[in-house]
Amino acid sequence: MNRHTRLLAIDRGSDPYAATVPPLYQTATFHQPGAEVAGPYDYSRSGNPTRAALESKLAELEGGARGLAFSSGLAALRTLLSALPERPRVVATADLYGGSCRLLGEWATNRGLELELATDAAALARALRRPADLVLVETPGNPGLGIVDLADAARRARDAGALLCVDGSLMTPWLQNPLAAGASVVLHSATKGLGGHGDVVAGALITADEALGERLAFLQNAEGSALAPFEAWLLARGLKTLGVRVERQQAGASALARALASVLGADAVLYPGLTGHPGRACHAAQARGPGTVLSLRLGDRRRAAAFVDALELFAITVSFGSVESSVSLPVSMSHASVPVALRAASRPPDDLVRISVGLEDPRDLAEDCRRALEISGARAGAGSRP
Ligand code: PLP
Repeated sequence: MNRHTRLLAIDRGSDPYAATVPPLYQTATFHQPGAEVAGPYDYSRSGNPTRAALESKLAELEGGARGLAFSSGLAALRTLLSALPERPRVVATADLYGGSCRLLGEWATNRGLELELATDAAALARALRRPADLVLVETPGNPGLGIVDLADAARRARDAGALLCVDGSLMTPWLQNPLAAGASVVLHSATKGLGGHGDVVAGALITADEALGERLAFLQNAEGSALAPFEAWLLARGLKTLGVRVERQQAGASALARALASVLGADAVLYPGLTGHPGRACHAAQARGPGTVLSLRLGDRRRAAAFVDALELFAITVSFGSVESSVSLPVSMSHASVPVALRAASRPPDDLVRISVGLEDPRDLAEDCRRALEISGARAGAGSRP
């Protein structure tokens, strides 16, 4: 069955009234048949039919054994960390969301987590010569759009005795399925492209095997990190248009990346769909497209900030993946939270601007960017790749 068709496939079996849209069970509790008789659900932290429908859709989309929905992407990461042994050794790629970096840094400072940030493939290989518990990879990385070879990372993680978790927020399952490349678990900030409308904060973990899924489901309940019913309902609604949204936004991002590369020079535009991108071939082999996000190097922080401020069609927001285009200066926004001790490895360059392309006409977006470049003077002196 075609993937677009599958996104819309109706679950005919589970609702007693055969509702076409899975109903919102906005309830904290469920009546039990008796004091000592359990029903299918009792308490929405432990389980809720709206969330259960979403979780099985997430598992299906990633080709996983188990899908779990959390109150945010960071709640998902937090629950994954809780599943590791005491004082775990974690190796993560340095091109990493600032909040993930902050959480890992917090565990390193206060919970005995040993953290190593790998700045490139050689550093990742070196770090995994020693046993580890978790390898956390973002590919493409946020916001540098660097590419990690997933099959290679999976092999090295396995040899080191570690779980491989791939943060797929930038790609969504529509474009990349890391479990197929050997990852143990995929993490999503579903706040981004999965939800797609900028109106819900949510996270997801999808596991390759049932045993890890079971353990994480236990912790999701025990720690209280599950997604609330209304957010689950909104997310399920957003998923129906995942394919059309991502494909159309990706076409817009590709057109905008080409237009900006012709103005700024290829080196100043970071996007795995561009011919000069160092990870392009690897990315093309493990994903179904370059995605909806690109970054620019604009020479210095002042010009980068002036460019962001001059744009009219892009909302200045910390997030990405919505149907509305947005822009950010990661060093002062999404990645300002990178702890001081980890900044040498993981702080994005000062002049890097991240752009998330929505559903607007790419010609309008390109025109807005050209105008903002003129105003900010960012055209001269573009920087190089991070
Ligand atoms: N992973 C990536 C790549 C992100 O960009 C974010 C948030 O921006 C997260 C994880 C955390 O997700 P959330 O904000 O839903 O907690």
